[in-house]
Amino acid sequence: MRALKLLLCTAAVVAGLASPAFAAVKVVATTEDLAAIAREVGGDRVEVTALAKGYQDPHFVEPKPSFILAVSRADLLVVVGRELEIGWLPTLITSSRNAKIQPGAAGYLDASLNVKILEIPTGQLTRAMGDVHPQGNPHYWLDPGNGRLIAQAVRDRLTQLDAAGKAVYQQRYDDFDKRLAVAEKRWDAAMAPYKGTKLVTYHRSWPNFMERFGLQVMGYVEPKPGIPPSPSHTLELISDMKAQGVKLIVVEPYFDKKTPAAIAAQIGGTVLELAPSVGGEKTVTDYISLFDYDVKLLQGALKQITGR
Ligand SMILES: [Zn+2]
Repeated sequence: MRALKLLLCTAAVVAGLASPAFAAVKVVATTEDLAAIAREVGGDRVEVTALAKGYQDPHFVEPKPSFILAVSRADLLVVVGRELEIGWLPTLITSSRNAKIQPGAAGYLDASLNVKILEIPTGQLTRAMGDVHPQGNPHYWLDPGNGRLIAQAVRDRLTQLDAAGKAVYQQRYDDFDKRLAVAEKRWDAAMAPYKGTKLVTYHRSWPNFMERFGLQVMGYVEPKPGIPPSPSHTLELISDMKAQGVKLIVVEPYFDKKTPAAIAAQIGGTVLELAPSVGGEKTVTDYISLFDYDVKLLQGALKQITGR
């Protein structure tokens, strides 16, 4: 008996070395944004792994063997949904052979189900060639209001899977909610002078963000989500930007800057790289710092352009 206890202790120590915390719930999130929110809510009770890095295009991620291992050990898989990960996640879920996290199981959480989704296609649903947003815009985490709703869904699901942690999850959610509310006041104040300003973005990553802060996206460098720039579309965009006096082009870190730079040169405008995700830039390590980073850069660029 003593030998068995010793053996169990040793096993626990070894396991402890492999993963520092004895977490009650192993969480895998498909993106660093969802992982950051899960850490906010779960604290020490969860061990969180993110699959896609914040500097990668989340639509197109190269699945690594380590992804299968992580998913196979997960108690909870949190996904962005709306087909954002359709190119790389379904095979990963199947290959993991983990019954707990299959779609429909308690360990599968689609974070898009209780948030505000924009650009939901109406009328006949034909998947236009190359359109990577057939179920509405999946970049919804870029509205802090949606971040709060995601945190609520994570809190409720963690409580369902780990009832002993209920009070911890509630307390941590409340704390996150309060800090987020304080931060939102700061971001709203920074963006207030620029309400209604028009800008262009490369991909349709920013509708939730821009709507939240009262900015207007008047066009895209991509002719359609997921389709690279074409000369005819670029010429049309330049003429529209000139006509409407639009000077700012927001670009995600993983896109080629050549076309945005050429457009900016034509109109005397500015190309601004923003982080669409936690981890998209070194200093962006959690959900609130993501908005701190983007709002500060955007404020600087808009100040220069508008003189406000
Ligand atoms: Zn997209």
